[in-house]
Amino acid sequence: MNTMPNPSELPGLVAECARRSVSLGLNRGTSGNVSARSLEGFLITPSGRDMTELAAVDMAPVDMEGRAPEGLKPSSEWRFHRDIYAAFPEAGAIVHAHSPFAVALACLRRDIPAFHYMVAMAGGVDIRCARYATFGTQALSDAILEALRDRRACLMANHGLVAWGRGLAGALALAVEVEALCGQYLCCLQAGEPVLLSDAEMAEVLEKFRDYRSED
Ligand code: 13P
Ligand code: ZN
Repeated sequence: MNTMPNPSELPGLVAECARRSVSLGLNRGTSGNVSARSLEGFLITPSGRDMTELAAVDMAPVDMEGRAPEGLKPSSEWRFHRDIYAAFPEAGAIVHAHSPFAVALACLRRDIPAFHYMVAMAGGVDIRCARYATFGTQALSDAILEALRDRRACLMANHGLVAWGRGLAGALALAVEVEALCGQYLCCLQAGEPVLLSDAEMAEVLEKFRDYRSED
């Protein structure tokens, strides 16, 4: 079950999450996009607009065939948002960001291994980096969906990160955590090679995470 808010409140909540992605340092200018599942499909931030200036009226409704009302320009990344909602029934919201450490690691095309137990927050023993594809394309969506297998977040080669949650708060919190993990992992790489947790150690963490912040 995803936590779907009152439909009339949804545009304001998506706009607020987009603005928060900037104040939290995940995005700036027109970079990134945010969406939340709606009854008909999803509601997404508009394309090419400054994230700090977004209001409820700017949010674009998109159906699962990718149709949006005349005059509204949904984010160029509506395809991967649509495909994530289609693939993960539990996904209620998605945050995409060009946050500094995630971009740096994604430019090295490195997965985040089990160097810290919090990697499990994304649902598995690692957080994958999706292969490169041009922004806004179906090829990028296909690459992201592959990297998201059994996961709630991934990096995007030479681009950034994407995270989904049951609701906007959960998606944003996971994006913040993935960005922190990228910074910590890069810091480890500068000092040497971090000792990785074993599959057995991570299995224990994943089991404990089953009921930890499960509402997100
Ligand atoms: P949009 O402004 O079209 O959402 O594009 C921003 C972005 O991050 C593309 O990947
Ligand atoms: Zn982007």
